[in-house]
Amino acid sequence: MIYNIHYDVCSIAISILTVICVLTTKDIERQENKAFLLIVMNGLLSGIFDIASAVANSFPAEFPRFTLEGLNFMYLVLHACVAMQFYIYIRLNGGRDIRFDLRHPSPYMIPLAITLAVMLLNPFLHWVYYFDENLRYCHGPMIYWMYASGGIYILMAFLDVAHYRKTTPWKRKALLLAFIAAGLLTVVIQMMFPNILIELFMQSVVYLGILVSIDDEDATYDLVTRVYNRKTFLEDTQVRMASDSKFDIIVLKLTNIDYYRNSMGIETINEVTYDIAHWLDSLDKAAKVYDLESGVFAFRTDTQDEVLTDALRDILNEQFQLDWIHQELAIRFNVQIAVVHIPDDVDTIENLVSLIDRQYVSTGRTRIVEANEFESFRREAAVEQVLRKAIEQKLFKVYFQPIWDSMTGKIHSGEALVRLIDDELGYISPEEFIRIAEHNGTIIKIGEIVFEEVCRVIRDRNIEELGLEFIEVNLSAVQCMQHDLAEYIIGTIDEYGIDGSQINLEVTESVAVQNEELLQNSMDQMRKRGITFSMDDFGTGYSNLQKVFAMGYDIVKIDKSILWAADEDFSARVLLESTIQMIKDMDRRIVVEGVETEEHRNTLKHLGVDFLQGFFFSRALAEDEFVEYVRNFNHIDSSGQEG
Ligand code: C2E
Ligand code: MG
Ligand code: MG
Repeated sequence: MIYNIHYDVCSIAISILTVICVLTTKDIERQENKAFLLIVMNGLLSGIFDIASAVANSFPAEFPRFTLEGLNFMYLVLHACVAMQFYIYIRLNGGRDIRFDLRHPSPYMIPLAITLAVMLLNPFLHWVYYFDENLRYCHGPMIYWMYASGGIYILMAFLDVAHYRKTTPWKRKALLLAFIAAGLLTVVIQMMFPNILIELFMQSVVYLGILVSIDDEDATYDLVTRVYNRKTFLEDTQVRMASDSKFDIIVLKLTNIDYYRNSMGIETINEVTYDIAHWLDSLDKAAKVYDLESGVFAFRTDTQDEVLTDALRDILNEQFQLDWIHQELAIRFNVQIAVVHIPDDVDTIENLVSLIDRQYVSTGRTRIVEANEFESFRREAAVEQVLRKAIEQKLFKVYFQPIWDSMTGKIHSGEALVRLIDDELGYISPEEFIRIAEHNGTIIKIGEIVFEEVCRVIRDRNIEELGLEFIEVNLSAVQCMQHDLAEYIIGTIDEYGIDGSQINLEVTESVAVQNEELLQNSMDQMRKRGITFSMDDFGTGYSNLQKVFAMGYDIVKIDKSILWAADEDFSARVLLESTIQMIKDMDRRIVVEGVETEEHRNTLKHLGVDFLQGFFFSRALAEDEFVEYVRNFNHIDSSGQEG
């Protein structure tokens, strides 16, 4: 009987080609590439032994018994290893931890261990194969175990990809699944038709497929420094985070690299960053170095080892205390070094990225960003999560703070103030979360929630009857920059069927000055519908009063800090008085906020301030309480009559 060896010859040819490609184009320092190389080498050797054993099996009488046994043994053992290698490769490729270390056996090695044991015992037990009295090669019952063990590894590889499906980019996932399917198919075909020796051939084609499609080297590495790029960093880190590994990331930022790029030219700086990247790379073999953007490197340790990480950080620190020497040039980089422990410091890729991209203030040449600086960041990240949750689950409440009219002695309006209470973080002040919401864009949604709630209250509560002229609503800087702000506001008041004059929008002083034209435009449109405007926080920025008044604010709200400062010293008191006088001269109405004492009230009333707002009257109240408060204060009975 002569085996058909053509497929094997092709398989060997393809494997040789693949090995050459891997050696010339891949970075075999990279674990997954190393694993891949081993698989292909195995395929190559299997092919050779397959041919050799096929020849020997066809002419068994020509070969010594030992050679006959040995060739078949080698082929089957190599062949048995490939499935596990494939599994290891799939895991490594997904960025998962897997160690092949015989001193620390892992459960995943069990099927292969059984196979090897059976193979070693085969000369005595003949469970896998044997030679009958005519020296014909025959299969024993355990040959099926060989297929089963291959099947187990392929199944494990599949489960692995399935388990991490959420964090694997879809293209990679599709490819991995295709390869797994191809692997499975070869095992099945081989089992059903043992005489068609296409298995190795199929395998080598699969490897070639992996080679050309899974790793696109240019997309993996930075073109200048040739270490991994930002995209690889994100992918690698994300999968490692998802698999719950612990590791450290050291971020090195050359903060003044732009200065050197401008003065020394791009070419030179490219060479320098190349050198720095490879210097970093040489520090620890097990770690990976990434070029995140020009002059920003991330160094990822393999495991979490405090001593090692501290040592690395110190090496970086010491290195950049000195000048970086490039040819004859001595370059004085200013650097920032931050050590991030994953998952203790951050546990999502989004947070890690914002932490890395963050600007940290620095003064000296080298600056180590301390872990406690992440604290504020962590708080911010936590608040950010709460914001998203609050939007989804409608957890925001709108409260109203009464504003008192000094002429009539009644409550004249109320300012809508957003409130947020979280189960875990408790009360979160808008001072804190509005800024964060402005950064991540959720402010738009929050603004809408507040505005619509205000419209609803105006519609349901008949505020006119309560003696309220309007409700003040704060606009954030981001809302003021929206082109369709007026459209939205007008559309909403129409939807609720309320009158524009029942709304007064508060714009912060700094915004009012920055986005003059766009804002002016929106304000003009809204003003046509009767909406009025207040300038909020007056006195905290640098306003060009002429401009501001030209924009037609109806009311100016003097910031509480101005009032409180006046309590403390004489010149601040003069400032408060002259500010009030100046606004009055310009014929605008004035609100002073932060009125906490009777003395405040008396002084401000005496100075002719129109409206007062502050804890002396009331804090912001929930809808029902607010209505109740105003009703009592303004002596309105529930039929709407003034008492
Ligand atoms: P703001 O618009 O200047 O609002 C006045 C702030 O001063 C409110 O703080 C109010 O509770 C507080 N306040 C009033 N009288 C007194 C007083 O007598 N003593 C003290 N200690 N505080 C007083 P709150 O509610 O914490 O809001 C802070 C800031 O957050 C607001 O300042 C406003 O800029 C922003 N904000 C609140 N709600 C919203 C909203 O719905 N949208 C937007 N964009 N910003 C909002
Ligand atoms: Mg306000
Ligand atoms: Mg204010």
